[in-house]
Amino acid sequence: MKHNFGAGPGILPHEVLKQAAAAVIDFNGTGLSLLEISHRSPEFEAVLDEAVKLVKELFGVPEGYSVLFLQGGASTQFALAPYNLLPDGGKAAYLETGVWANKALKEAKFFGEVEVVATSKESNFTYIPKDFTIPADAAYFHITSNNTIYGTQLQQFPKSPVPVVCDMSSDIFSRKVNVADFGLIYAGAQKNMGPAGVTLVIVKDDLLGKTGRKIPAMFNYQVQIEGGSMYNTPPCFAIYVSMLTLKWLKAKGGVPAIESENNEKARVLYEEIDRNPLFKAVAVVEDRSRMNVCFVAENPEHEKPFLKLCDEKGIVGLKGHRSVGGFRASIYNALPITSVYVLIDAMREFAEKNK
Ligand code: PMP
Repeated sequence: MKHNFGAGPGILPHEVLKQAAAAVIDFNGTGLSLLEISHRSPEFEAVLDEAVKLVKELFGVPEGYSVLFLQGGASTQFALAPYNLLPDGGKAAYLETGVWANKALKEAKFFGEVEVVATSKESNFTYIPKDFTIPADAAYFHITSNNTIYGTQLQQFPKSPVPVVCDMSSDIFSRKVNVADFGLIYAGAQKNMGPAGVTLVIVKDDLLGKTGRKIPAMFNYQVQIEGGSMYNTPPCFAIYVSMLTLKWLKAKGGVPAIESENNEKARVLYEEIDRNPLFKAVAVVEDRSRMNVCFVAENPEHEKPFLKLCDEKGIVGLKGHRSVGGFRASIYNALPITSVYVLIDAMREFAEKNK
């Protein structure tokens, strides 16, 4: 089996893939494929209900919040967040910590004024800015909890005088989070939750309906809440596989258990990067991501041969994003620590050969 360090769509638990594959042929003994049953069938409704229940339970979603499974990826949420939360003529505040944050704030400009409270663009986003003031007259403050491309992560969430909107696409369910600190959380499923094609949205109900704007049904959180994520045909298969992945997470001991594993995976990998004279980490120490570990070769000529060695060892998906270069080891929830050890061994072997 391969050691899948891909950034997304990322690794899923093998047992989830086996169950999903079986359901494509015969879903729970119905004699029908999951792909050919009605989304309004009791069988599928049970899947969606279970998925919502698991999100609430695993993430400790309090009363007064709705959980939605929508389509269009996190990129659609870049627009739907301001569409639903930013009043006409209002202002939203953004923390610019990477390309995804930048794309999010660009979409908000279609709906109102945008204040970028701080950016780390001048250093190609190697750190999270900390010295900023969130304007109290903003409708919300938007952050990206984990910056997939640069390997930085907010270790603490800022105290905000206004509701916090958070893109958690690449670290959702990887660590404990106090949902009550957020007005809106969204995440494309394809890293820690399931396959591409479904987007998780957790929204505080009382923030809705205040923009003074008419919103078309598919883009309107309120309509989606009333329809129970079934205003139209939902992405049934992606929701099913997400539900299985959440069940897998629960069986492992939930978010606290996976957080300890993730911390250990990140700790041993950064330790090797810091120790190994051939490699260097990209992000500043205090902002290092525990999901996407970005590093480069001290000697750029080592890049290709190291990737070749990795390939021989079944390590895949390690090439860094084109805007950063080098390597990116995405160590999402489903990646076992044994795969991290295989990567560490490859790094050591490579250093031995290139002394
Ligand atoms: N936000 C973050 C942090 C991401 O990592 C990604 C995708 N890698 C996106 C947003 C965009 O997600 P999608 O492709 O689901 O639109």
